[in-house]
Amino acid sequence: MGLVLYNSLNRKKQAFTPLDPQRVTLYACGPTVYNFVHIGNARPAVAFDTLYRVLRSLYSNVVYARNITDIDDKIINASKDLGEEINVISNRYSEAYFKDMAALNTLQPDLAPYATQHIPEMIRMVETLIEKGHAYAADTEIADQKGHVLFAVQSMPDYGQLSGRSLEDMLAGARVEVASYKKYAGDFVLWKPSSDSEPGWYSPWGRGRPGWHLECSAMIKKHLGDTIDIHAGGQDLIFPHHENEIAQSCCANNGKALANYWLHNGFINIDGEKMSKSLGNFRLVNDLLQQYPGEVLRYVILSSHYRSEQNFSKDLLDSAWRSMDSLYGFIRGIDSVEPLLNRDGAGYQALLDDLNTPVAISELYRLTKEVNQVSGKEQQDKIAELMGLADILGLLQQDPEQWFTQGRGGDEISAQEIEALIQQRHEAKQNKDYAGADAIRQQLLDQGVVLEDSRDGTQWRRS
Ligand SMILES: [Zn+2]
Repeated sequence: MGLVLYNSLNRKKQAFTPLDPQRVTLYACGPTVYNFVHIGNARPAVAFDTLYRVLRSLYSNVVYARNITDIDDKIINASKDLGEEINVISNRYSEAYFKDMAALNTLQPDLAPYATQHIPEMIRMVETLIEKGHAYAADTEIADQKGHVLFAVQSMPDYGQLSGRSLEDMLAGARVEVASYKKYAGDFVLWKPSSDSEPGWYSPWGRGRPGWHLECSAMIKKHLGDTIDIHAGGQDLIFPHHENEIAQSCCANNGKALANYWLHNGFINIDGEKMSKSLGNFRLVNDLLQQYPGEVLRYVILSSHYRSEQNFSKDLLDSAWRSMDSLYGFIRGIDSVEPLLNRDGAGYQALLDDLNTPVAISELYRLTKEVNQVSGKEQQDKIAELMGLADILGLLQQDPEQWFTQGRGGDEISAQEIEALIQQRHEAKQNKDYAGADAIRQQLLDQGVVLEDSRDGTQWRRS
């Protein structure tokens, strides 16, 4: 089977056919960098990283771009609250984002364009939209309203194609700012004025800054082209963000589609409740990484299908950690071999079927059982298949020794202290002080460290 993807545009699974198999293009909306990201931001990064890996297994040249929104009212507000320069905040949190995502084993996208480095392209797109009659500068002399440029949604007959709702429905369900400078309440901002204390760029409409939706449209056009293969993002972005990206790009590019396939991941709930500011239940990736290895977070995210709603809890994280321990425990006991992707294997086939990662993960376990049932060359092949499937899922990427000796959160005994105690125990044994050696073993066990003696020496792991 070839790759099949669920396309939000027509709400069904479709065989994936790229425009140009020599250059497959994927764009995912990245974070607005004003704080550490939460687990809800990690889900698209992990899901679409897996898509990127699958695409790379099929095509020789895949260009994956994920932007950084480094100009936005949220960043401006954070700057006022913290009394720090905007670029200090956006640098700090974009770096933190890259670091957090690397801990989740996401590959670096080919391109990570920053919005502030594409202002001329954005201004050019607004000019084009005005020339073509799809946008207008607000006709007002009122100081804080002057300098707005708006997209006229009624100028686009099929506005709303992605969310599949009429303009009236969309307006009723969304918080749309009613402002006197708008000709129609649904018109959205392409460009807005900046006060002297706010960051701004000179434009034909005065000093100002771009609207959020415009950033993605301009960066996609510049780096990937007028029409791309796949545009991805969280389900919450369908309206208004993606709908408006389509409107801008399609109208600026003579009616050309922005993307042929639209992929959206579902929400993450925390302990059965929606993540929200009022509940204060955001789980920051940075905090979770103090307590769990990144691969455990990745495993949790991939254990649900990307389109389904996912419930996040401590129990789920702890059980994912035990699952990863059992997989690492298995590969620790076998000789390593070069990974090989089995394209006919049930795990890879599941990934081709709209990224069915839960099935692919269950195949990892089935393969461990199969490895044990065969021997010799056949066994080597099974191990290679197991590791090939793990690679495309971005799991089992650590050395097993490293996995079992890494910290497990909290005030725990350090690896150096453990090694020192193992050495003391070894010496005790050599001196035939078996009671002393046993006491050290028990002392370590009490601190959650299990020793395993073999002919090659003593290995340890945290339990
Ligand atoms: Zn976007």
